Amino acid sequence: MFDLTNKITIITGASQGIGRTIAHIFAESGANVICVARSESKINELSLKINDKGGHATPMPCDVGDGEAFSKTINTVVDKFGKLDVLVNNAGITRDSLLMRMKDQQWDEVLQTNLKGAFYGMKSAIRPMMKNKFGRIINITSIVGLTGNPGQANYAASKAGLIGMTQSIAKEVGTRGITANCIAPGWIDTEMTVDLQEDLKKDLLDRIPVGKIGRPEDIAHAAVFLASDEASYITGQTITVDGGRVIN
Ligand code: NDP
Repeated sequence: MFDLTNKITIITGASQGIGRTIAHIFAESGANVICVARSESKINELSLKINDKGGHATPMPCDVGDGEAFSKTINTVVDKFGKLDVLVNNAGITRDSLLMRMKDQQWDEVLQTNLKGAFYGMKSAIRPMMKNKFGRIINITSIVGLTGNPGQANYAASKAGLIGMTQSIAKEVGTRGITANCIAPGWIDTEMTVDLQEDLKKDLLDRIPVGKIGRPEDIAHAAVFLASDEASYITGQTITVDGGRVIN
């Protein structure tokens, strides 16, 4: 496993699913993880668990769609730890509907959390990363941002936006020791996907070359690599972790 010892890492959406697993696996790799989500009790519990196992974790409840609050959270981390090495923008929501029935609210909520939340995070993280001459920004997008998906125009727009935003930032900060990349998960077994209809699940599974659903660990391992010193020459990329779904 790649070594992330003493890498100060903010992980959003850490209260469950992929974000929670990223927090565990980063901590196991030596990172000092700051767990961000709105559910205070869940990130408190996660941090206790990581610290009990000898890792380093701090819970920081925050709504990433609230720019002032998210920026304050990042500034507090930099004040407390003296730097910020890694930002994982993982928080995400869905509000699915066919476009012709989609309400403004469904569009706005998804864009506010998935895209604007990442914008707020990156905007506040870049200055301390520049000062530190090191930074790793990892944005969790989705294969839906590459392919589109009926019923998810809002979600697909937010995830495709994340890819374009990441490429732009990679160009802005590339000479400063900062990389910015995306991970595009396919179908991963979390609370977000638990309620998919059975016939849809069967159809999805039939189209995954490796023949199984992904686990949060599959995403976390890719994130550890992108956060590592060894990934310094990779920037502006989207790594698809989907069991081959997009090639099918
Ligand atoms: P979950 O629904 O299981 O978890 C989402 C996380 O985001 C929770 O921790 C939630 O915490 C947090 N979150 C949501 N809104 C906010 C907010 N406004 N501020 C702070 N935190 C927030 O989803 P997954 O773990 O499955 O997904 C994680 C990421 O991976 C998402 O970006 C998702 O789009 C992406 N993804 C997932 C796939 C899958 O198949 N599961 C496939 C492709 C991409 P809380 O409610 O406590 O705030």
